[in-house]
Amino acid sequence: MTASGSDRGKQNIVIRGYGPYFDVATPAGVVLCTVRGSVKRERRKTDPVAVGDEVTISLTGNDEGIIEAVAPRRRALSRLKRGTDDVEQVILANPDQLVAVFAVAEPEPHPRMLDRFLLIAEAGGLASVVTVNKIDLDPAGELRYLFDPYREAGYPVIETSAAESAGLDELRRRLTGKVSALAGPSGVGKSSLINALWPERAEQALRVGAISGATGKGRHTTTSTHLMILDEDTYVADTPGLRALRPWGIDLNRLDRYFPEFRPYLGRCYYLDCTHVDEPGCAVIAAVEAGTINRERYQSYLIMREALAEEPSTSRFRRRSS
Ligand code: GDP
Ligand code: ZN
Repeated sequence: MTASGSDRGKQNIVIRGYGPYFDVATPAGVVLCTVRGSVKRERRKTDPVAVGDEVTISLTGNDEGIIEAVAPRRRALSRLKRGTDDVEQVILANPDQLVAVFAVAEPEPHPRMLDRFLLIAEAGGLASVVTVNKIDLDPAGELRYLFDPYREAGYPVIETSAAESAGLDELRRRLTGKVSALAGPSGVGKSSLINALWPERAEQALRVGAISGATGKGRHTTTSTHLMILDEDTYVADTPGLRALRPWGIDLNRLDRYFPEFRPYLGRCYYLDCTHVDEPGCAVIAAVEAGTINRERYQSYLIMREALAEEPSTSRFRRRSS
């Protein structure tokens, strides 16, 4: 076990979904499972089973089984299910942290997207780590300053180069012993970083596919996240589903608290219910004017406020009960 004290290594964890089938990682190997009907009936406003769920299974054959029960989720990265107003679609259950990966260049960084990831994590009660890859493309250090506001807001910012093996030890330390949701645009180097850190992972992905194929049930296309086992207790999932989503469970009234650098000023505005948009005597706006809150981050706040105000479901915030 690792420093996190997690017992995940002894648990059965859902690592991949194929329509009605799920790959479940157990201490004895990967088992392809269906889901007991009672599990589906108990959970109607959410996915009955999601990648990242800790489950109890019964074996029905070699490498085949049935999911009998799902442990209550501690956390989840979720979005609203398409075509619904209140059904949760879980992108990843029980993540420990969100690791947002961007490149200093190629592709050009997208701070608004980063702000969105950080907001989703804050709203879900998740810690975040920012990884700035391809620093080899910024030899003079002129580009990476774009990420300074995040450091100032209190987020760990790791500079890496998968190409030149820079910053990899620090990234490995951050990932080890945890379940991490990787988020970031394609082409920033997420796969390159994982391959550089855990080269044996590719083989494991193949093995998982082979088991599913052998049962004849492997042709269902993957409909959800793939949670990769990098090490005992170390899991990483790429979460492309986070890039475009209708937010689930983000409370418009708490939006200001999801920006850590705003927190010292909250409660200091003239109006108790200040939205920090244009009210007189607003301590947040004053901090932006004074340069202690980054103006771009504040712009992101305004943009997200507007977007959330248009989402009917976000005003009815549900705290996770199971
Ligand atoms: P992903 O889509 O985020 O998984 O990105 P990939 O790992 O597939 O990488 C996209 C491209 O960026 C590939 O051509 C990689 O070789 C390249 N790349 C990845 N990391 C680095 C890096 O640190 N520096 C440079 N210069 N290129 C990189
Ligand atoms: Zn205010």
